Amino acid sequence: MEQLIANIEKHLHSICFHPSRHVGSPGVAAAADYIEETFRKYGYTDVQQEKFDTTGWRFGHMIFVDLDNGCIPVPGALACFFSQSTNVEGVPLWLTEKDLKNLDNIDVKGKLCVVEFFSDGADIRGRNGIAEDLDKLGAAGAVFISDAAYHTTCAPSSKIQRSPYLKQLGTAVVSETGAMYLANHKKNRYRLIIDADTFPHKSSNVIATRPGTGTKRAIFGAHHDAAPFGQAASDNASGVACVLELARLLKDQLPEWTFEFASFDAEEYCIGSNPVGSDSFVKSHPERKWEFFMNFDSVGMHFGTDVVHIGLPEKLPEIDSIYEKRPFKNAGDDRSFNCIGVPVLWFNTHAKFQDFHTPLDSIETLDMEKIAICIKEAVRLTGKIC
Ligand SMILES: [Zn+2]
Repeated sequence: MEQLIANIEKHLHSICFHPSRHVGSPGVAAAADYIEETFRKYGYTDVQQEKFDTTGWRFGHMIFVDLDNGCIPVPGALACFFSQSTNVEGVPLWLTEKDLKNLDNIDVKGKLCVVEFFSDGADIRGRNGIAEDLDKLGAAGAVFISDAAYHTTCAPSSKIQRSPYLKQLGTAVVSETGAMYLANHKKNRYRLIIDADTFPHKSSNVIATRPGTGTKRAIFGAHHDAAPFGQAASDNASGVACVLELARLLKDQLPEWTFEFASFDAEEYCIGSNPVGSDSFVKSHPERKWEFFMNFDSVGMHFGTDVVHIGLPEKLPEIDSIYEKRPFKNAGDDRSFNCIGVPVLWFNTHAKFQDFHTPLDSIETLDMEKIAICIKEAVRLTGKIC
């Protein structure tokens, strides 16, 4: 147990070292290299970085200040994932839900808009659509509100809006604290400066294979990319640490089985028609028939309930886990495998504090022992299923 915890800590510190692991960032490339290096160190010779097309995001800096209140920064503000550059100043135009349905008749050109609309946490596509409309109509900036029912009151989610198709719109997000500030100083003039852009990019899935003597095949996976800004320790350096340690522990077990250990990029992206991340991986290998996929995404947080979400349980033997069993989630890399009829077990912690996709998701939020127990449970269940 001590060795396992020491290894987990090393993986977390190595993966979380860079300030951001969003698609196209130096941090996500460094994480992929560390994962490849660790597989090799653990004795794997068949290790590939499989490339696929994405849109990368470069972020330089952001300034969002109240010009009529001593240029103080608006609290809890971040640039959104895939924002373009902007430099706009003025009294913000507040757009209500009703305005958003009638955008063609509102003059937004060159303006800084505040989207006064608490859309549901799952309604990412809705907010992307709003940003894309404002982009087409020539708005200069759009400020979204990160709902504390889904995120924290003090730190917003940079992923609340994430369209890689914006041409010129700068997009930012504020936490509830920031939204309250803007609402209480509605007549003030603000300045929003964002230095960022998008570019065509090749992302990498990192795959290590332990060939088996028989025909059966299973895969263990996690994603190493992250929402921009912060360590993204729980989402999802924690899952990658699980996959790396499973590769070590299962290396000489169940020799008839072919085991693949996968770390996917671009799970946080999931927009657009091109297959990316695990979806690209599955579509690139139509000949492979996996008996099951074990997914590790957001595990080991303090103040949370550990669960296992099971997809297509009828294709698996009865699962007798130490964790509460929950239905299929259809929310991440599990989707790509479920689509082709592969049963999925997703190990996940349902956390009380919704710090995911915010800069507060740091190593301090993780309980190393819980992650170690998750790895041991995955090894035990693999023995039962195989
Ligand atoms: Zn995520």
